[in-house]
Amino acid sequence: MRISLPFRQHATPRTPLVRALEAAVGSAHVLHLAEDLLAYEYDATIERRRPDAVVFPRSTEEAAACVRIANEHNVPIVPRGSGTGLAGGAVPAQGGLVVVLTRMNRILELDPRDRIAVVQPGVINLALQEACAPHGLLYAPDPSSQRICTLGGNIANNSGGPHTLAHGSTVNHVLGLEVVLPDGRVTWLGARQLDAPGVDLRGLFVGSEGTLGIVTQICVRLVRAPEAVRTMLAIFETIDEATEAVSAIIRRGIIPVALEMLDQEIIRAVEPQLHVGYPLDAGAVLLIEVEGLRETVLEDEAAVIGVCRELHAREVRTAASEDERARLWEGRKGGIGAIGAVSPNFYILDGVVPRTRLPEVMREVMRLSEAAGFRCANIFHAGDGNLHPNIMFDELEPGAIGRVLDLGGQIMRVCVDAGGSITGEHGVGLEKRSYMEWIFGPPDLEAMERVRVAFGGADRFNPCKLLPTGRGCGHAHATELLRHLETPGVYV
Ligand SMILES: Cc1cc2nc3c(=O)[nH]c(=O)nc-3n(C[C@H](O)[C@H](O)[C@H](O)COP(=O)(O)OP(=O)(O)OC[C@H]3O[C@@H](n4cnc5c(N)ncnc54)[C@H](O)[C@@H]3O)c2cc1C
Repeated sequence: MRISLPFRQHATPRTPLVRALEAAVGSAHVLHLAEDLLAYEYDATIERRRPDAVVFPRSTEEAAACVRIANEHNVPIVPRGSGTGLAGGAVPAQGGLVVVLTRMNRILELDPRDRIAVVQPGVINLALQEACAPHGLLYAPDPSSQRICTLGGNIANNSGGPHTLAHGSTVNHVLGLEVVLPDGRVTWLGARQLDAPGVDLRGLFVGSEGTLGIVTQICVRLVRAPEAVRTMLAIFETIDEATEAVSAIIRRGIIPVALEMLDQEIIRAVEPQLHVGYPLDAGAVLLIEVEGLRETVLEDEAAVIGVCRELHAREVRTAASEDERARLWEGRKGGIGAIGAVSPNFYILDGVVPRTRLPEVMREVMRLSEAAGFRCANIFHAGDGNLHPNIMFDELEPGAIGRVLDLGGQIMRVCVDAGGSITGEHGVGLEKRSYMEWIFGPPDLEAMERVRVAFGGADRFNPCKLLPTGRGCGHAHATELLRHLETPGVYV
């Protein structure tokens, strides 16, 4: 990553904002030096902007105090979890205060009888899964970043994962939320059980991408771990055959719990690093998992193998042990990270299309990438029609970032034209807010803006995210801002 920031070698004087934050949470939990702020100017995508300060509250009261202090000092507020977001959602687009929730990382309650857990927002997704396992329970949403992403970030982005196909995304598993509103007041949305009476404000909040408040406590529902699981690797000569098999499996009436695709570029990145057993010469593989009662799982497994063979799978392997199953999943969950070893930079896209349109959309994605002169690796939740083309590039090549962003826009347009949408799970963030106008008309966008205002969000709470409008953000697409990145030392 290029570092062109003119470092300030000497301690920066504390601003009144910093002094007030230090008084509220302790000076050890406030960052304000340029070299410390550097780590909080980006998330997992390519947008960057330096905050004025970063604060790490330990409790709801401290988080609320931070919000009130930022308001008193008239600076924007940006909530942040682990910073693995892929749409620039945690990037402080107008500077201001980044509120990092990772110190609030306790599981407060795990009740196996009522099958609920109450957690703080900085709890890591996998930590909750691991805490549930001894009780035979599961917190179902499992983003591939689950080793590091937080529950707070999952809620803000309504994150999905390989198992979304059967279990649904985060919103289907959240019962209630404690939130700090943009004016610093604290309230609960939803409850400890499904179907709380009244307007479903909990549902509105999940997926609002940190624009309606800061989540400080979360009540989630847990499901019973399945009696039996079968995990298969279906190997195909081409992406076309693999994507045809995806809708054929579901047409046959089988809903696998996961149906993931990895193409040859990904396999060739993953295998030398992780040695999980993916064949290097395959055009694409499908990772297919079925779960349920022992008897039905065996039937589903046989049916899946039958469909894959009809669709010309070269081979379908079933994991023979828990260890083999874990390795197959390690390849999937480590797939995006593995691209980092074969390309200096990559840009992950997130679009969704009707499953049946996958073969033609994938052909167009590959054609556009080739025409733009980039290699493209694909690893995605095929069962949901949720594609993730990864455009590989070198940011040191003059003009590369602009060309990559243009290609990203073209691919999103292909998804929309195929009856799909601009995000399947990563959110709109800073990156795709101008594309919102491709799918929503002015009345829809106005209604969303009014919801934001009703929560007290307005312009200073995570500005320039999600909606194409916003004072000071203009209508410019992030692409325009990001072109500045081509000029060393200049920040958006
Ligand atoms: C390798 C890799 C694989 C990934 N795989 C998946 C996947 O399979 N499925 C998927 O959906 N995503 C995936 N992601 C994207 C990302 O991990 C998710 O969006 C995740 O939920 C972000 O969590 P985070 O803690 O990193 O949040 P951040 O990136 O810190 O923040 C994300 C958004 O949430 C807001 N936010 C964070 N915490 C709070 C809070 N407490 N209250 C209010 N708003 C808050 C931020 O303002 C921002 O808008 C992947 C990312 C990577 C790098």
